[in-house]
Amino acid sequence: MSGRVTIASVKLWPARAVLLCLGLLLAACPLPRSMSAAEPAATARSQPKRVLMLHSFGSEFRPWSEYARSIKVELERRSPWPVDIQEHTLISARSNGPGPEAPFVEYLASLYQGGLPDIVLSVGAPAARFAQRYRGKLFPNTPMVLTAVEQRLVSRFDLTDNDVVVAVRSDFLAAFENILQVLPDTKAIAVVIGASPHEKFWIDEMKRELEPLEGRVALTWYSDLSFDEILKRASTLPPHTMLFWGLMSVDASGVVHEGDIALRSLHAVANAPIFSYQEPFFGGSTVGGPMHSVAETSAKTVSAAIRILGGEKPANVKYDPIGFAPPKYDWRELQRWGISESRLPPGSEVVFREPPLWEIYRWQMLLIAAVILVQAGLISGLLHERRRRQIAEIESRQRLAELAHVNRYSAVGELTTSIAHELNQPLGSILTNAETAELMLKATSPDINEIRQILADIRRDDQRASEVIRRLRSVLKKTPFEIQDIELNDTVREAIGLVTAVADGRRITLTYMPVLADLHVRGDPVQIQQVVLNLIINAMDAISDADTGKREVSVSTMRAGNQAEIRVADTGPGIDASDLANVFNPFFTTKPEGMGMGLAIAKTIIEAHHGTIAASYQPAGGALFTIRLPIIR
Ligand code: ADP
Repeated sequence: MSGRVTIASVKLWPARAVLLCLGLLLAACPLPRSMSAAEPAATARSQPKRVLMLHSFGSEFRPWSEYARSIKVELERRSPWPVDIQEHTLISARSNGPGPEAPFVEYLASLYQGGLPDIVLSVGAPAARFAQRYRGKLFPNTPMVLTAVEQRLVSRFDLTDNDVVVAVRSDFLAAFENILQVLPDTKAIAVVIGASPHEKFWIDEMKRELEPLEGRVALTWYSDLSFDEILKRASTLPPHTMLFWGLMSVDASGVVHEGDIALRSLHAVANAPIFSYQEPFFGGSTVGGPMHSVAETSAKTVSAAIRILGGEKPANVKYDPIGFAPPKYDWRELQRWGISESRLPPGSEVVFREPPLWEIYRWQMLLIAAVILVQAGLISGLLHERRRRQIAEIESRQRLAELAHVNRYSAVGELTTSIAHELNQPLGSILTNAETAELMLKATSPDINEIRQILADIRRDDQRASEVIRRLRSVLKKTPFEIQDIELNDTVREAIGLVTAVADGRRITLTYMPVLADLHVRGDPVQIQQVVLNLIINAMDAISDADTGKREVSVSTMRAGNQAEIRVADTGPGIDASDLANVFNPFFTTKPEGMGMGLAIAKTIIEAHHGTIAASYQPAGGALFTIRLPIIR
């Protein structure tokens, strides 16, 4: 290292200095005889040990700041004596130019003129070099521990018997091979490193050490770039390029980077993972791998310091250079860059694992689970209720079907005479035609054509009779309530066919005017026919035999929006306004023989079809019943 070391700042602890002065004053005063003789060991124990800690770039420069912090904590914890740690910071390592080194040396010399420190601890290579260079002048016999210094930077030649070295050994090849191990597709590695003399030394060292990688991976060095430029490049790296964080104390434009702000801002913009070989940079920004362990170095440093302060000869305190600790990886970075844990070398430790969501949001999850359970309970309760309702609906339809069936029997009972009449007519013609044909066959030369005509008539009459019976059976058959797609015009026509003869018998004109379009609804055809039949029979009942005026029942269908409409109108007396609200009530009747169940059943049937039925009074006289059913297409 070529840099010369100069004072940058001196950090004295005023309270401790006052205590020290008091201590010196007390030491100068003659002690009472009893005290000085009785407690020499106790006095020695309470006497603070003065420790001078020398920083390299500054007390907040990583990685050395982390070593220094750990050493201080460990020393204060393990030291059997009170320790007075005084820290001095050098910054001459930051620049190439020779700094005013002499005044700083003078300053230290005058500062410790009255009493030298018990031990000097230098942290990092520049501090080690400074201490070695000026130990003769400043602390000729004071023991020194040179710590957190790479073994290559220790000047073995300048070492004295009072010096202990706690060196580290950086294996850059191992650090780079770790990158290729965890990310085997790596094609290039960009090395982020500053431009201070210390950093320049390391660029040359790394280049030499990494020669075996030539041809395997392309190396780029960012030492000539300002940090801003480095950030720009790092955000647009080509695929399969990784970043290696060497050191960034002073960049090429002379900007000094303290703490870990530089690394954090690189991490924020980089489009590639960052690796490093120093533990102080691990934990938030770098992926990990083999690294120098702060704990191991500081533990050895503190052990050395305590042994020396306890009176052991520094020459007897020796440590081998400390290599990389077993590899450690940041779980969050492994996740971010999709690095499989199976790629990590054996014996690796994965840290900063994020607990599963279940552990982070335990209470929230429990609450959500409870809400879901309650909801599931409610839903299953509702489903059960719905099922029960469906069963109840099916049962009620069944009852309705049975009731309707009974009602149909009573309605058809009224039609018996006219049905018998309707059947008699074709049967009578069949008999007459058959007799005629027999007579004709007795003739010597029967007219075959005439006989053929008679047989055709017989067949037609037979079909007519069969049709009457078929209709009757279909309306009387006991079927369960069965919803299907039906065409309403045909269904109504079928019902009318049953009562035509009755109307004829009562001298009533029964007209049917279906709309000239198909009306598709969902329904049970037998039930719908029963309703229509009921309305027609009621309409015919309303027209008294004595009435000599217009005797007419007109049935029509039409489409009203998305509803199909059936209208049954008559020329009877109509329904009294006071009765309009009651006609659909069970047992409401104005007929001496009536049961008052026809319209109540009709209403139930239509509502089971999601439709409506209404009665009204026509201005021209007579009643009008309107049924509406939803159209399906
Ligand atoms: P029922 O025919 O056994 O009386 P309904 O429920 O079919 O039972 O009819 C109830 C009552 O509604 C009838 O008694 C009658 O007073 C009245 N009604 C039904 N249709 C008509 C109509 N077209 N004109 C006049 N009144 C009617």
